[in-house]
Amino acid sequence: MGNSTELPGLDRSVHCPLAPRRSVAADAAVRDNQRGREPSVSQSASVVIVGGGIIGCAIAAELVQRGWRSVRVLERATVGGQAVIAYAGLLALPGSGSTDDPLSELGAASLARFPAVAADLRERTGIDVELRHTGGLVLAMTADEETALRAALPVLRGRDAACCWLDQHELRHLEPAVSPLFRGALLLPYEHQVLSPRLVEAYARAAALGGARIEEGVEVIGFERDSDRVVAVRTRTDRIAAEHVIIAAGAWSGALAALLGVPLPLGPLRGQLVRLHAWDTRIRHTLYRGDLYLAVKADGTVAVGSTEELAVYDRRPTLEGVRQLVTFVHETVPALGRAAFLEALAGLRPWSADDLPVLGRLPGYENVWVASGHARHGVLLSPITAFLMVELLEGKQPALSLAPFDPARFAR
Ligand SMILES: Cc1cc2nc3c(=O)[nH]c(=O)nc-3n(C[C@H](O)[C@H](O)[C@H](O)COP(=O)(O)OP(=O)(O)OC[C@H]3O[C@@H](n4cnc5c(N)ncnc54)[C@H](O)[C@@H]3O)c2cc1C
Repeated sequence: MGNSTELPGLDRSVHCPLAPRRSVAADAAVRDNQRGREPSVSQSASVVIVGGGIIGCAIAAELVQRGWRSVRVLERATVGGQAVIAYAGLLALPGSGSTDDPLSELGAASLARFPAVAADLRERTGIDVELRHTGGLVLAMTADEETALRAALPVLRGRDAACCWLDQHELRHLEPAVSPLFRGALLLPYEHQVLSPRLVEAYARAAALGGARIEEGVEVIGFERDSDRVVAVRTRTDRIAAEHVIIAAGAWSGALAALLGVPLPLGPLRGQLVRLHAWDTRIRHTLYRGDLYLAVKADGTVAVGSTEELAVYDRRPTLEGVRQLVTFVHETVPALGRAAFLEALAGLRPWSADDLPVLGRLPGYENVWVASGHARHGVLLSPITAFLMVELLEGKQPALSLAPFDPARFAR
């Protein structure tokens, strides 16, 4: 064991994550998984990333960009499964907006990186992630809603001085299709969007072009440890020796940490989204009310999201979820009643017990790292997460304090 022998066939595993079908090697791996065969192959990597979601792919792209070699992303299903569902692709800043709110700070730092990241990905891969500056409107129907939104204004103006309250007349002028039942809205001028399926595609392709191996249909089922180090990860067919292991397995990250004897309260927060096609309704801003939103995408479709359902591992949309979203559409932009219903989607957001991302070294381990728990903000937070995780791997002091996101906080 412990050597870095690679079977020649496995070198052909999926390099381009966008290839429409698996490689011969990946197909063989899936067959072996199904037969439950014992691991038989020994290989090695400098970094093994468990999970090919937007976070795992963003980290892989950052690693190869900084010159890391022998990076492998192991994805048990297909790359970017959840990001495709996160079709809204909102770069909506989380938290209160206050400078002492760590999630706000992380979000703002990530948003600031997006123009450069989008340009860099386009140059490296030719993929346009459709970064668009749309602005957001948080709608108020009741007096209480208005009071709460106005109260948030002073702090939000610290984020962007152009944040302001729009009365009903101003709102109708800006967005005529919004229902006249709304009494006003908070304007958030800094909001942006991307096409999230394209973003994960671009990260994965940038990583692959930089030499990373992105392997689909490969499930990590265990780890081999030697005191405070993991020396290898085990898939159903292979043993891969690793210098570093990054757990970026979304809602399943907690289960993987548990295999290493570390309890991390990370689980699924299901979200549902519906997609519409509207030919004759113009909406420029992203519209919010509470947790729900409606956003027109660069391809002309409308994304309406998203529900929040705890501890559900089922990825099928429900009638109740769709009803909630359709009701929101009718109340917000009645003309969308004429829009074509394209599809309903459901995905599992990785959610931590304190609602903050989990970024850093796994307690008790020298070379195991966790990057998960991004909940509703994984698309927004992907650039900063990738940057900070690689800083950590390189032993640098991150520019932003990661203490609030330290996995060790749950052990205290
Ligand atoms: C409806 C909806 C709308 C959303 N909208 C937005 C939005 O507008 N803006 C925003 O910023 N965020 C949004 N999000 C949140 C965002 O999608 C998530 O935060 C993000 O996709 C999480 O990425 P991840 O890589 O951590 O996890 P995932 O995408 O879940 O990726 C983890 C991967 O790990 C793999 N895996 C798990 N276990 C193993 C194993 N043992 N071996 C190998 N692979 C394994 C899984 O198959 C999975 O592909 C939305 C989410 C949903 C559901």
